[in-house]
Amino acid sequence: MSTPHTPESHAHASDPNCIFCKIVQGQIPSKKVYEDEDLLAFHDINPWAPIHVLIIPKTHIPSMAQLSQVHEAIMGKIMVKAGELALQEGAVPYPEGGFRVVVNTGRHGGQEVHHLHVHVLAGERPWQKI
Ligand code: AMP
Ligand code: ZN
Repeated sequence: MSTPHTPESHAHASDPNCIFCKIVQGQIPSKKVYEDEDLLAFHDINPWAPIHVLIIPKTHIPSMAQLSQVHEAIMGKIMVKAGELALQEGAVPYPEGGFRVVVNTGRHGGQEVHHLHVHVLAGERPWQKI
């Protein structure tokens, strides 16, 4: 039996207490740099580098620790988008420039916001954290 295509079937799983879900829903403002049906990317509010954007799935996934095979497509999409957005936001092209991708996961991984997000960092060094 196939799932009917109701508007609800396009809704993204969301956590009402999650700050990034609130950004997805427009309840908290963000400086968006990219959006499609699956992803949102916006400037980090406290940048560690001259260029610092976060890419998030619109669906609430707490961290990389919850990933399974069903997430392969969305994670692949985020990784492809990371390099595109670095250039879009002004990164010097590879290899002279380039960018760094960071995904903090859990307390030991330094994760503070528990909605999976990929940091994309670029620009002239030095950078604040790494
Ligand atoms: P992490 O330590 O990997 O969980 O990083 C969370 C990141 O989210 C930090 O770099 C914060 O500066 C950033 N952040 C937190 N709240 C917001 C917000 N409202 N808009 C943009 N970035 C945010
Ligand atoms: Zn969330």
